[in-house]
Amino acid sequence: MQIIDGKAHALRLRADIAQQVIARTAAGARAPALAVVLVGEDPASQVYVRSKIAACAEAGITSIEHRRDATLSEAELLALVDQLNRDPAVDGILVQLPLPAQIDSARVIAAIDPDKDVDGFHPVNAGRLATGLDGFVPCTPLGCLRLLQSTLGDLSGAEALVIGRSNIVGRPMASLLISASATVTVAHSRSRDLPALTRRADIVIAAVGRPEMVRGAWLKPGCTVIDVGVNRVPKESGQGTRLVGDVAFSEAADVAAHITPVPGGVGPMTIACLLENTLKAAARA
Ligand code: NDP
Repeated sequence: MQIIDGKAHALRLRADIAQQVIARTAAGARAPALAVVLVGEDPASQVYVRSKIAACAEAGITSIEHRRDATLSEAELLALVDQLNRDPAVDGILVQLPLPAQIDSARVIAAIDPDKDVDGFHPVNAGRLATGLDGFVPCTPLGCLRLLQSTLGDLSGAEALVIGRSNIVGRPMASLLISASATVTVAHSRSRDLPALTRRADIVIAAVGRPEMVRGAWLKPGCTVIDVGVNRVPKESGQGTRLVGDVAFSEAADVAAHITPVPGGVGPMTIACLLENTLKAAARA
């Protein structure tokens, strides 16, 4: 069994992006620039934004942070997005989710210029992905695809099961796998016999948000498991918490040929792919 080291893959990707940024600026272009919008004080969002900004700095990407109070109105946020859309010094726009209840996230996402939408959540980019056109692909499924391709090479003909159908992970993951010529099944909360679907799969991508839901006994021997889930559970000692995925790791490790750990699997690739998308946005500008 091989543990897929997402951290090492992400470090390589980040180093490669940093080299490309150096080549770009050496050729006279300005550094790629990412505008990061954070509304409110959600602690998890603050941690994510901090690590995204640190990763940008390390790769030579300029990040411009826009922090606003949790009381910000939807109209004010839309005005900020409009200003960033029109600013030629901004290549990519990231609005950290979730947004406070008074703001309709879908309306804000739809207001972002699709060619600056480095999160890949805009309906135009979702449509481009679904129809096989070039666009921005959401960072988490893009990171999963990179891990799969570097572990397995060609994915054509593989039976892939995606568990979860969110716009952020499950649906774009399924589109990417279809484009990579895998045979794709998408399962969700209404799927009838998840263990039976899982048993058929050469590739299992779990993006559910339920701690250790996928059991080792469900898996086909020799399969590859990508665990997107990030769940905080109490430690056995009763003191503090720890992170676990959607897959029961130690059981799965006995059956699978390749598996991503949590943490240290998909998470680091998500940030690396955000940098990749920002560089791509700058190259398009
Ligand atoms: P959502 O809550 O948006 O979607 C969860 C999906 O799981 C839904 O499609 C839901 O089905 C499905 N589901 C729920 N219960 C079951 C069940 N019992 N059996 C089968 N399917 C089920 O979550 P996200 O897609 O945003 O995130 C999924 C996980 O990935 C979370 O743990 C999240 O923290 C993590 N994540 C990690 C990232 C990273 O960088 N590592 C980035 C993004 C997310 P239905 O549609 O029917 O409700």
